[in-house]
Amino acid sequence: MKWIRTVGTAVAALSLLASGSLVAGPAQAAPGDNLAWTATASASYTSPWESVAAVNDGIDPPRSNDTTNRRWGTWPQTGTQWVDLTWTSTQTVRAVDVYFFDDNGGVRLPAAWRVQSFNGSGYVDVAGASGYPVAVDRYNRVTFTAVSTSRLRVLLTSGAASVGVLEVKAHTNPPVDPPPTSGWNPPANLVTPLNEVWQHYEQTYPQLHTFRNYGWDQVMANRGYLNYCVRWDSPAPVSAALRDQIHAALARQVKKWTDVMVGHNAWPYGDVPVRVVGWAVRDRNQLQWSDNSVDIYVNDIRENAPQCAEPCGRFFNQNGTYPNCPGGVARHYDMSLWLTAGMGGGAGGDWGQRVGSEYFVNNINAADMHIVLHEIGHSFGLDDFYDWTPTGVGGFLMKAGSAAQITEFDRWMFRDWWRHLKGRYGY
Ligand SMILES: [Zn+2]
Repeated sequence: MKWIRTVGTAVAALSLLASGSLVAGPAQAAPGDNLAWTATASASYTSPWESVAAVNDGIDPPRSNDTTNRRWGTWPQTGTQWVDLTWTSTQTVRAVDVYFFDDNGGVRLPAAWRVQSFNGSGYVDVAGASGYPVAVDRYNRVTFTAVSTSRLRVLLTSGAASVGVLEVKAHTNPPVDPPPTSGWNPPANLVTPLNEVWQHYEQTYPQLHTFRNYGWDQVMANRGYLNYCVRWDSPAPVSAALRDQIHAALARQVKKWTDVMVGHNAWPYGDVPVRVVGWAVRDRNQLQWSDNSVDIYVNDIRENAPQCAEPCGRFFNQNGTYPNCPGGVARHYDMSLWLTAGMGGGAGGDWGQRVGSEYFVNNINAADMHIVLHEIGHSFGLDDFYDWTPTGVGGFLMKAGSAAQITEFDRWMFRDWWRHLKGRYGY
């Protein structure tokens, strides 16, 4: 089916036969993974008007005196304060980045800080710490001997006033600082086909430049993350473990695209966390967990499938405000991962990605879930190539059936979208 785009809607469909070979294998931790956003945050004390959830909400603060996003602060407490990240399973952590809260008043930089891990009976300092810098308006990184733990503590000693933190990142493989910004510099052999692709868009889609819900718009509106709803369109039960695996697999696939941008042409983010904020089902009993880590929507049916509440969905609120979403912006979802029992192939657009629930679950540890990757490509504006091939390029992911992973040409087509859209965001 051809990609159809109307006002407020981008829909793409793909039929892939089972002949497409899957690259299956153990999931690998990719460089730059931030583990913090899969943890639950808690603290020694939180001022009633602040929020400890701020420390791992994935929002990169604009400055230490952030007056826009939620914050964790301890005013009027002083002395030793801490914020903990607790995971449901053991994590390997080698580095932590901390962005301190400093409002130049009651909350200031700490006099000192350190990272501790829980060893089963108590908290101990991590070994081999590289040092604990204390600076405003930036992340402060410490690297240390790898530690396996499910509970990590950032311990702060107050200085001139109370202390606070805006964001914490925990890494298995810390990303290097983004390399110096490079401009538009595709390989010479790709210049012609890339120009052909962009001209094709211009000729095919009258709303190319006015459409405002590409994945790019979503990431930039959030300042660097994506929230998802899982539409579980299947009678099968889902365990807490499967829920977390689905989240991890989705995040891995999205990361394969967003990592293409790191350090390129003024792209402002090192990583783009993916969070699942909601699950939609027909029957609550299908979901075999009782914790409240995600919002659950029961029997809200659209397109004959469960969906998360429309007031929380970006597709339905494209100005990016969510006045009727109970959890507000923090609990909104940008896209849906729509998993349909018995479905072959897939579909993708600004609303998210749709694939078979069996396909997704059966390939949950695959390095490249190629149908999902292809559909995510559509969510970021990439087109299908059913009826033409750009000059001089062979197989690539967006030409369905001709590649099972993101290729060099796919990467440059992706970057070309940023080249053409970045002016929207002031870059
Ligand atoms: Zn397609």
